[in-house]
Amino acid sequence: MFDCLSVKITYNLCNLSVPCNSRVLMLFGQLEKLNRESMLVDPEIARQITAKVLHLIQTQEKTRKEIMSKGSSGMEVILATLEVINAKNRAHMIGVFVSKGGTGILLQLVISASKESPPSEEVMLQLHSVLAKVGPKDRKFGVKARLNGALNVTVNLLKQNLQNHKLLLPCLLVLQVCLPSAVNAVSLGKNGVVELMFKIIGPYSKKNTSLLKVSLDTLGALLKSKTNARRAVVHVPVLLYIYHDWHRNDTCHRHILIRKGILGCLKNITNIKLGRKAFIDADGMRILYNTSTECLPVRTLDPLINTSSLIMRKCFPKNRLPLPTIKSVFHHQLLRVPAGGPVAQLYNQPLGVDDVVDESDDNEDAEAENEVEEKDHHAGNDDIETDINKLRPKETHSRPFEELKIYERFFMELSEDFQVMQYIFLCLQFNNSILGGAFIFLVYTCTSVGSAPIRPQFLPWTWTPSTSPRTKMEEGGEGAVLQVPDTALLLPLHDPDLYVEMVKSTCSVPQFSEVAYPDYFGHVAPTFREHILERVYGVQRTKIFQDIERLIHPNDILDKVVYDLDIQSCPVIDGGESLKFNSQFESGNLRKAVQVRKFEYDLVLNSDINSNHYHQWFYFEVSGMRVGAPYRFNIINCEKSNSQFNYGMQVLMYSVQEAISGRPRWVRTGTDICYYKNHFSRSSIAAGGQKGKSYYTMTFSMTFNHKDDVCYFAYHYPYTYSTLKMHLQKLEALRTPQTYLREDVLCETLGGNSCPLLTITAMPESTSNDQICQFRNRPLVFLSSRVHPGETNASWVMKGTLEFLMGSSPLAQSLREAYIFKIVPMLNPDGVVNGNHRCSLSGEDLNRQWQNPSPELHPTIYHTKSLLQYLAAIQRAPLVFCDYHGHSRKKNVFMYGCSLKETVWETNISATSCELHEDLGYRTLPKILSQMAPAFSMASCSFVVERSKEATARVVVWREIGVQRSYTMESTLCGCDQGKYKGLQIGTRELEEMGAQFCVALLRLKRQTSPLKLRNHAHLLDVESDLMETRCKVSRSDTHTPSPGHSLTRTLTDKLTLIRSHTIPLTNNKPYMVH
Ligand SMILES: [Zn+2]
Repeated sequence: MFDCLSVKITYNLCNLSVPCNSRVLMLFGQLEKLNRESMLVDPEIARQITAKVLHLIQTQEKTRKEIMSKGSSGMEVILATLEVINAKNRAHMIGVFVSKGGTGILLQLVISASKESPPSEEVMLQLHSVLAKVGPKDRKFGVKARLNGALNVTVNLLKQNLQNHKLLLPCLLVLQVCLPSAVNAVSLGKNGVVELMFKIIGPYSKKNTSLLKVSLDTLGALLKSKTNARRAVVHVPVLLYIYHDWHRNDTCHRHILIRKGILGCLKNITNIKLGRKAFIDADGMRILYNTSTECLPVRTLDPLINTSSLIMRKCFPKNRLPLPTIKSVFHHQLLRVPAGGPVAQLYNQPLGVDDVVDESDDNEDAEAENEVEEKDHHAGNDDIETDINKLRPKETHSRPFEELKIYERFFMELSEDFQVMQYIFLCLQFNNSILGGAFIFLVYTCTSVGSAPIRPQFLPWTWTPSTSPRTKMEEGGEGAVLQVPDTALLLPLHDPDLYVEMVKSTCSVPQFSEVAYPDYFGHVAPTFREHILERVYGVQRTKIFQDIERLIHPNDILDKVVYDLDIQSCPVIDGGESLKFNSQFESGNLRKAVQVRKFEYDLVLNSDINSNHYHQWFYFEVSGMRVGAPYRFNIINCEKSNSQFNYGMQVLMYSVQEAISGRPRWVRTGTDICYYKNHFSRSSIAAGGQKGKSYYTMTFSMTFNHKDDVCYFAYHYPYTYSTLKMHLQKLEALRTPQTYLREDVLCETLGGNSCPLLTITAMPESTSNDQICQFRNRPLVFLSSRVHPGETNASWVMKGTLEFLMGSSPLAQSLREAYIFKIVPMLNPDGVVNGNHRCSLSGEDLNRQWQNPSPELHPTIYHTKSLLQYLAAIQRAPLVFCDYHGHSRKKNVFMYGCSLKETVWETNISATSCELHEDLGYRTLPKILSQMAPAFSMASCSFVVERSKEATARVVVWREIGVQRSYTMESTLCGCDQGKYKGLQIGTRELEEMGAQFCVALLRLKRQTSPLKLRNHAHLLDVESDLMETRCKVSRSDTHTPSPGHSLTRTLTDKLTLIRSHTIPLTNNKPYMVH
């Protein structure tokens, strides 16, 4: 551009009349000479000369007047010199020029020149050419130009020279430089510049394309101001016409920038509501849709398609979700509705607040076409706690010990003397009464008691408790015979019959009476690798265009409701034209399914109970599919602004046909997966006072392989409350005489489910005082999980932990001998049962209630915290507290901890004012994990305390209970981008392995915290570290997926068992017992 604007000027020395100042004259003479030899100009010499001229002009009023006086060509010489120099060494010279106050002088020159009548066109042209190049280097250019009046001169010049294209161009360029300033934009708009631009731009023409391009860019910049956009609304049809005209005529795509410029103007006008309306009225959707579709084959036109798509999405009329209300379809009446908070708010809302009015004039442009990953909470945000008092241990106004004393019953091991109970398996029966109930020990005799197990009913693929299986089988004929895959060997903790038993005692708000097949059959992790998907180019665009087609071709849309929980009798499905949906089982949460096209369905998820949002988790059943048909599913009421579905994560599918063929498993599936903002939204009132919020679509496509199949789709590997109960029962069966396992009922939930509390440790080696003393004094490790029901991965990690702890390996025995484990494996059973994503039945996020939990509304949190308070009161606060979670936006497994120092460092609080003494011990456990657990990433860990997290378990246990090693362990829902599993999606095997390795890490921690106490097991730890090193070496070079069962746990176990059985006795007193 610079070159084409260069002005070649010839000079006649005779015309140069600078009479009385010989110094200036001399300098100009030198410049003239340089200019004539422009190819040879030494910028440094020229710079020195101009600097001297500038100095004279700045310091001598007389000189300035002379140079600017009519008839003097001094100014032209300067400008020409600038041109020449700039062309040679632009960036540097302009920088020097600006720093010496050059722009101010040039602007002053504009004012002076404008006073001539008529102003010299040549001077104005040159001045503006130079200003257009100098301006961008001067950050205050726009303000300077406005304040000294030069901006007005330029505008007037434009108005008077609309046909003078040579002059228009540099003037427009100068305007552009001034436009980033909002004040300038508004002032120019008032001055009629928007209208002026519409006089310059026009339909397709090969002439003056550079002028058109600059005009469009200037107009686009002007329209960023909403006031200006309002002025331009009437021109929307013109812009659309011009765009279409260029699209039609620019067949060789030489003028993409002009076409983009027109779209840029439309994009800015449609930021306001009036603009969107004008766009729709002018048939903008159809015009941009058609032009974009025609552009699709040419890759270089992508910017046009992307901007068109952005405009169309913005203008797509906002709509409410196809629901009578966005409040949860199921209601749970709370005995006491809290006075404030989200639930109270929800139930005080007037009817019909969900109706969406597109009232916002918000610029929604922030969302780019290719969404950028949401900033992590810990990356330099303003959420970090800066109040040093909130980072210090809380002043203890803890509850009186008398009140906490009732929790003593959950810590029998601390007073147990084993005189009577020795070698008797202990079991606390599930106790339905809350804390007041009697505490009963039973001698455990057998695992299955009572009547013969009831088999599931197989019609229609579900189980109802009222009907006997035999009858059903007769009715259903041969087709109804169901083979149950024999998974007993592969899944030692799974038992279909036991699962059904467990379901019977599970209380759900919708009173589910069916069992989903995946939960009944169980899941055997596949042995093949499941890679993180590479995103196919243009997928999101294609999906969005298909959505826009709904508006363009409304007649193609079926809009047939095929599943609807809001209507008592779900619509009857006709002869095989539609899929059948169902989610009336534990953890299911599909609310509505609408058939949009023959093979496309919009799905609406249910809100968390007693809430009107939190949609992310899903779990539903599909049947009646056609083999090989390309189905597309859209979950249309997602809420998060981004998702790992945009970064390679797939949905999970479970096929019953596959299961009965011997492959009972969830597999990652789906193609063309993406996640984007859609045209559904809710009102600001429904959104709890925030701006009206848009929903997002998660879409995936898939073809089914089996006829008459029943398939299940889920956000992540389901893990129901009934599954937990089944696993706990099966774990009891693993108990050996050396294992101390007790299962208490911590409390009952709002929904009437029991919250189990486990105590696991090793039995004392003898009843000698020493041994009993050692037993009672073992440090405690407190673990919890699944406070967020949608984070099912947390349960799989917990399963791995529990299985390892109850295992027969020498490491497990050492671990049990080293610690007393207190575990609450499911902090939110009600949420899990009812298919919630985030909340409990109180409609609240339980992990934001730890500061002041209510015994009525948050019983599991209240009593879990009480256990910890009791421990603190008896000086037995746990060594480690860890709450397992799942993370929806990040990869790998990692931990959040709490550190006063690291928080202070992040926030620049004056650290000198407070003495910071802090043990770095909180880093040890994550460090160990990063060395041994392949999915774990130290780089993703953070130890900063955020304000928004002050009521979470991690922060409250750290601050109030005084547990230095208080963590949240977050597992990805997607996969890993480092370590051995790099590039793979996470599966249950990796999650369970993580849980097991957490245990092994605790053993290492034990060694590092108290090496002397473990002297007896030193040999074991050597073997352990030896193995870990070997494994690390292997993992670096080994590119193969580990075969099933060859996780670290198994390897360690095998090797250690081998060593143990041949040589070393575990303890000094007793031989190791094998079970
Ligand atoms: Zn969570």
